[in-house]
Amino acid sequence: MSEVRTLKVALLGCGNVGAQVARILIDDAETLAARSGARLELSGIAVRNIDTPRDVELPRELFTTDADTLVKDADLVIELMGGIEPARSLILTAIQNGACVVTGNKALLAQDGPTLYEEADKAGVQLSYEAAVAGAIPILRPIRDSLSGDRITRVLGIVNGTTNFILDQMDTTGAQFSDALAEAQRLGYAEADPTADVEGHDAAAKAAILASLSFHTRFSLDDVYCEGITKVSAADIASAKEAGFVIKLLAIAEKIDSSENSSGISVRVHPTLLPREHPLAAVRGAFNAVFIEAENAGELMFYGQGAGGTPTASAVMGDLVSAARRLVLGGPGRTETTTGYVPALTIDASDTSYYIGLDVADQAGVLARIAHIFAENGVSIEIMRQTIHRDSESNVESAELKIVTHRASEAALAATVEAVKGLDVINSVTSVLRVEGV
Ligand code: NAP
Repeated sequence: MSEVRTLKVALLGCGNVGAQVARILIDDAETLAARSGARLELSGIAVRNIDTPRDVELPRELFTTDADTLVKDADLVIELMGGIEPARSLILTAIQNGACVVTGNKALLAQDGPTLYEEADKAGVQLSYEAAVAGAIPILRPIRDSLSGDRITRVLGIVNGTTNFILDQMDTTGAQFSDALAEAQRLGYAEADPTADVEGHDAAAKAAILASLSFHTRFSLDDVYCEGITKVSAADIASAKEAGFVIKLLAIAEKIDSSENSSGISVRVHPTLLPREHPLAAVRGAFNAVFIEAENAGELMFYGQGAGGTPTASAVMGDLVSAARRLVLGGPGRTETTTGYVPALTIDASDTSYYIGLDVADQAGVLARIAHIFAENGVSIEIMRQTIHRDSESNVESAELKIVTHRASEAALAATVEAVKGLDVINSVTSVLRVEGV
């Protein structure tokens, strides 16, 4: 019987995810060997401080602060340190030394993915990063492999658990953003500095990765329009709820092929209204989900835990077994296919439906004047609902108008809102939010 090959696995980082990966490598060694065809030997764990207490009890002799030496003597490198440097240089060293790399580092991939993919391609090694988008959910491999014979037209993702938790709290309890954020922090769903989550930066990094794989081109963070959830008010949520919508922070990548706007891919992150019956509307708490529309497959949805040490470690291990198997069987690393340059569209050239809330004077002819401005700017109205309010003190009546438009360009919508604001019968524009799934 031929001897089972041993592959050296270097682990960079032993935090939330790294510690669980180390545990699985040690505890499930036999299963992993059976599945990959090689013994996966954890050769060392690079950390900043060897004395930091770990979530998992691990042999002290595995720890080192010399990541560079560890990487140079490995067949497989798992990068779970996070941040740009030294993660970037260590991954490049690993690739140049012929090692396959598994990483969960979305920030690095969104910033400098193209360089890393090209280097891996040149060296014929595999660079895998399933954990970088939506934690445990197998989403990148289905896009890259299972759908490689189809054409994806749109991807809508809830890819940040913190913001989904906050918006869900606001929706179910009527809380303001700041109170829902405080609750998320108390429960450990949001960091002390929540900027990367609530401003949408984390979701934007994932949007760049999803768009690159889905549309076979390379997008970076600079190509992603990004708007977080800090301006979503309890009033926006209540008004959306009344009209049958829920507000979610979506990462969207879609092909836009219109004669009016330039063709290309719109990659964007922003708060979005979804009809309550849309499958993504049912994604509650800190869960993630990605909804894909493809020409032949139709609609698909992937749902699960988007973060957490153990769930994310599951995605890392899947990549590791697949890379190990490839090393055992031989052959070049699996790389992404790029079909050339497809432009990323600016937000002005993107089109979507909109929800507009208006506080207007209750006078005859108001609706016709507003509808006229929409038509003049080429924005067609799908739904217009009016609710009358009477101020108990002044006894003056005003009306709340809720308008949902058909798909229109961002530029046309902005011009419409500006023109509507100029009407003497408009008290205020209470909400302008993008809508998907209508
Ligand atoms: P973490 O808990 O902050 O752990 C980071 C680890 O890296 C620590 O063990 C730290 O060492 C080590 N490290 C950091 N800088 C280092 C340096 N310069 N040299 C050597 N070691 C260094 O991070 P995490 O939450 O596990 O996340 C790891 C990666 O997975 C990140 O890229 C993250 O975006 C990604 N990810 C995380 C999740 C999640 O749920 N946590 C989900 C998806 C993807 P010390 O312990 O000694 O400080």
